[in-house]
Amino acid sequence: MCSQGVPLRLEVGPKDLEKDTILSVRRDNAVKASLPAADITTAIPKLLEQIQQDMFNKAKAEVDGRRIVVEKWEDLVPVLDKKNTAILPWCEEPACEEDIKDRSNKESLAASKMEDDDRAPSSGAKTLCIPFDQSRWPSIEGKCCPACGKKAKRWTMFGRSAFTFGLPASIVPTLMTSPLLRLLIMRSSQGQRGGRAALLYELPRDLGRRQQAQRGEI
Ligand SMILES: [Zn+2]
Repeated sequence: MCSQGVPLRLEVGPKDLEKDTILSVRRDNAVKASLPAADITTAIPKLLEQIQQDMFNKAKAEVDGRRIVVEKWEDLVPVLDKKNTAILPWCEEPACEEDIKDRSNKESLAASKMEDDDRAPSSGAKTLCIPFDQSRWPSIEGKCCPACGKKAKRWTMFGRSAFTFGLPASIVPTLMTSPLLRLLIMRSSQGQRGGRAALLYELPRDLGRRQQAQRGEI
């Protein structure tokens, strides 16, 4: 029996029939539980809610754990290289953002050449958003922008627009047969880094722009 994509598997064997129970197996953590057959209509929705909540909590913890406060310029690229989002006390000057993008790109490229590591992502950091809830971080008062030294206005998320995964060139044509992955793969292995496919994690924005372009709005 194939359980792919099924969040909850129910098993009924001879022993379960004897006991009038059903064995449930969660796909997310493989936990098994014996449920009274009489309660199944209430127990299953409850279990599905629990799975949803647990998966959400796990994903949220992962995302939160990857938001790293960066107050010193030299910490920015190492934080991004570990696939984190950097939270900077930022001055909000457009020219400063351009500078951050440019300098972080150059530093990433230099670091990947030094380590001879083709897998390191090469793009520079840019603003992802300025969170409404600034209370998650200490007061911005007295903080300086780590890029230009000016007075910081708000905590701002910076990240790379693309992650480069170490996909061999040979796998790209196979992946391209998938309609979803065809949308995801924005550039293939023909670029200067060779043998790589870059997947954009900011896909919704890109798709939105593409749809706008199709409608002739941009
Ligand atoms: Zn600045």
